[in-house]
Amino acid sequence: TMSSLPKTMKAVIIEKTGGTEVLQYKTDVPVPEPKEGEVLVKNEFIGINYLDTYFRSGVYKPPTFPYTLGREGSGTIAAIGPNAPSDLAPGTRVAYMGPSAYAEYTAASVNYTIPIPDSIDTKTAAASLLQALTAITLIRDAYEVKKDDWILVTAAAGGMGLWLCQLLKAVGARVIATASTEEKRNLAKENGAEVLLDYHEEDRGIFTKKVLDITGGEGVHAVFDSVGKSTFDSSLAVVRRKGTMVSFGNASGPVEGFAITRLSAKNVKLVRPTLFNYIATREELQTAAKVLWNFIEKDGLNVKIHDVYPLSDVVRATQDIESRKTTGKLVLKP
Ligand code: NDP
Repeated sequence: TMSSLPKTMKAVIIEKTGGTEVLQYKTDVPVPEPKEGEVLVKNEFIGINYLDTYFRSGVYKPPTFPYTLGREGSGTIAAIGPNAPSDLAPGTRVAYMGPSAYAEYTAASVNYTIPIPDSIDTKTAAASLLQALTAITLIRDAYEVKKDDWILVTAAAGGMGLWLCQLLKAVGARVIATASTEEKRNLAKENGAEVLLDYHEEDRGIFTKKVLDITGGEGVHAVFDSVGKSTFDSSLAVVRRKGTMVSFGNASGPVEGFAITRLSAKNVKLVRPTLFNYIATREELQTAAKVLWNFIEKDGLNVKIHDVYPLSDVVRATQDIESRKTTGKLVLKP
């Protein structure tokens, strides 16, 4: 089947890490050939994740240069590598997670590629998979959320944030949400958050007092903090005794130099998870994806797409997410 495919394609590559000036939109990148354990996906939609900015900026190190950015997409299988699983046949509509998604074609690992159910459109799938599966693993594995738990969610109107608000509401937890603007806080509320707060970056005392007042002086059962450096201390300050601090992102920069003795003040559990260590096998992906498709189909979850830009507008898309302009999910179309 490779013979019927073009030899070159459009893709966004970097040859070094840095600001948005290192992003190169190219039209002559070789179309990859799927190896054993891979399928070649013709991308229809590419999901943007904050993660993509870490690989561009150097917060995370790209394994090689030139490096094609992007971590998730959806489309149809154009070709398969040797011994591909039978549910990943050419022509199948799929969503996947994995490197090199900012392109017309991506060689995706079969462990991270899943057929999309008929009831879910291809755009929704690219807008959901990585963030929704992260949210599902966070509320089940990082801290097993129980009904009536108080949970603090940061950046609650972002891609991850809206998933967490909706899923936490669906399992009966009570969500305290932070976001930087009134508009964002309203969106978090529409998606299930019960209490809306600003970060109060200048005066952390205000934030701490408000959360303690709301939770009867005890603090929250768990925090899901994606902002990192600028919120870590205020998040830890509002975790209750024996509560859990889940730090899962670095939007404001990585948390560094944390002294573990601080945890003993309240016997707090600290977790720093990544999705790919919760979902590492095809079976784990299938199990988690089933939960996700069910949430979308049966609980009627709302997948908020901020906008769809052409792949050639990658600089604008990156600037929008880094300057906190987006709510929900930004999607690219090759
Ligand atoms: P978002 O849509 O949430 O965008 C980032 C948001 O972070 C902004 O909208 C902004 O919301 C907030 N923010 C706070 N401080 C800053 C800052 N200094 N610069 C920029 N943004 C800031 O992105 P995603 O949903 O893609 O990802 C959210 C977080 O979750 C990221 O940190 C990401 O790395 C993490 N993540 C982790 C995974 C894992 O496996 N561990 C998997 C997926 C995502 P506001 O203006 O309201 O503060």
